[in-house]
Amino acid sequence: MNSSGLNQGTSGNISAAYHGKMLISPSGIAYDDLEPDMIASMSLVHEGDHYEGPCKPSSEWHFHRAILKSTPAYEAVIHTHSNYATVLSIGRQTIPACHYMIAAFGGNTVRCADYATFGTTELSDNILVAMQDRSACLMANHGMVVAGSNLDKAMWAAVELEALSRQYYQARMLGSMVLLPNDEIDIVLEKFKSYGLQTKKE
Ligand SMILES: [Zn+2]
Repeated sequence: MNSSGLNQGTSGNISAAYHGKMLISPSGIAYDDLEPDMIASMSLVHEGDHYEGPCKPSSEWHFHRAILKSTPAYEAVIHTHSNYATVLSIGRQTIPACHYMIAAFGGNTVRCADYATFGTTELSDNILVAMQDRSACLMANHGMVVAGSNLDKAMWAAVELEALSRQYYQARMLGSMVLLPNDEIDIVLEKFKSYGLQTKKE
């Protein structure tokens, strides 16, 4: 995340499902200083804020766990304050079908979740609403979150969403825009099912 330019300082966090648990990056530790045994672990089965590990889990564990629990196909979640996604979130923008890659996130839009204070269950609830039938959303005045079937795919999706955000923002600056119709996005969604988003490990 650092080398891809997605991160600013210690903002952002990553989680992955693993044997009924959520492994999540700890709170407030620079990514460069992270060691494997600093990763916090929380149950994906039981509610509550109990965790295992020497460091507290990211303050955003609520929405990481809610997303992983909402859709079993998601096994990894990435949250960043990447620049262009955050700019659009400050404008409370929904990204429209300005590029066919919008379909990589499950439909013809990427929505912006309503604002709530960081680290709250209200923010988590707002994100689940915005991610209905989608694998990503912007988060008002905050950043973005993406989910994937493994860490590689979630990372790929985070980079793609930041690129899409930049392209949409710059197209808005251009002043004119042609959006793709819904039936074209349906075709792309179908094509992505058969050969989109493959990683080397599969
Ligand atoms: Zn954040």
